[in-house]
Amino acid sequence: TRELERPADTRIFVVANQKGGVGKTTTAVNIAAALALKGLRVLVIDLDPQGNASTALNIDHTEGTPGVYEALVDGTDLDELIRPCPDIPGLTVLPATIDLAGAEIELVSLVARETRLDKALQAYLAECKDAGDRIDYVLIDCPPSLGLLTVNALVAGREVLIPIQCEYYALEGLGQLVRNIDLVHRHLNPNLAITTILLTMHDARTRLSSGVADEVRNHFGDKVLRTAIPRSVRISEAPSYQQTVLTYDRTSSGALSYLEAAREISEAARKARSAG
Ligand code: ADP
Ligand code: MG
Repeated sequence: TRELERPADTRIFVVANQKGGVGKTTTAVNIAAALALKGLRVLVIDLDPQGNASTALNIDHTEGTPGVYEALVDGTDLDELIRPCPDIPGLTVLPATIDLAGAEIELVSLVARETRLDKALQAYLAECKDAGDRIDYVLIDCPPSLGLLTVNALVAGREVLIPIQCEYYALEGLGQLVRNIDLVHRHLNPNLAITTILLTMHDARTRLSSGVADEVRNHFGDKVLRTAIPRSVRISEAPSYQQTVLTYDRTSSGALSYLEAAREISEAARKARSAG
C-alpha cells in the first residue's frame, strides 16, 4: 500500500555538499529507502567513486562492475546498469565503482561533458514512463567536491538537497556551493533550485547543535526541514551490514527521523524558485 502521495512528475534530487562526512550518502540512501518503503518508486544514482551508497543498499560495486562510469564515459543505457535493491521493493540503484575516480578526468575531453548524466537519465525515465512504470523520486549522491561529476548531477537534477552537519563551521564553504549551483542554474539548467536543507547529526542536548540549527534556519528559512536527524549509533552502524537504518532498526530514533523527513519532502509543494 502506498502511504505517501506520488508526485505529479518525477522529482530529481541532487544530494550535494562539497564537504565530506556531513551525511550526504546517509541522507540519500535513507530518504530513498523511506520513500520506497512507503510505496513509491525510487532510483538512487551513486555518483561517488567510493560507492558508499551502493554498499548501504547492498549492491555489488566491486571494481569492473558496470555502473555509472559506463553510463557517463561509454554512453551505456541506464537500463543495462540499474540493479534492484535486494532488501527494499521499489528501490533501484545505479552503482558506482572505484573506476569512476578516473571519470572526472576522462570526462574533460568528451563532448557534452556536463550533460551526459542528464541525457542518460532523461532517456531512462522516458522508457520507464512508456512502460507504465514511472519513477517517482531520483536521488543522486554526490562526491565531496564540486568537479565534473557534481556538475553532471546538478545539470540532471531539479532540486538540490543540502545536508548540513550540526557542528562548528557548518556554514563555511556553503557560499561556494550556492554560487556553483547558481552558475549551473544560469548557464546549464534553468530548472535547478535549492529546495531542501536537512540538519544532520543533531544533538538536542548541546548548545552548539541548536546554535547551528538556528543559524541555518535564519539563513535558509523554510527550505530547512522541521525534522533534524539526530546523531545516532544505529545510523552509523547500518552500512557495515549493507543496510539502511530503516531496514537495520526501523524503530530507532534515526529511522523514525528519516521517515519523517521523507514525509516532509513528499508533502512539500516545494516549487522551483530561483536557485540560491
Ligand atoms: P558524506 O556522504 O557527506 O561523506 P556520510 O553520509 O558518509 O557523509 O556520513 C559520514 C559518517 O557519519 C559515516 O560514517 C556515517 O555513518 C556517519 N553518520 C551520518 N549520519 C549520522 C548520524 N545521524 N548519526 C551518526 N552517524 C552518522
Ligand atoms: Mg558520501
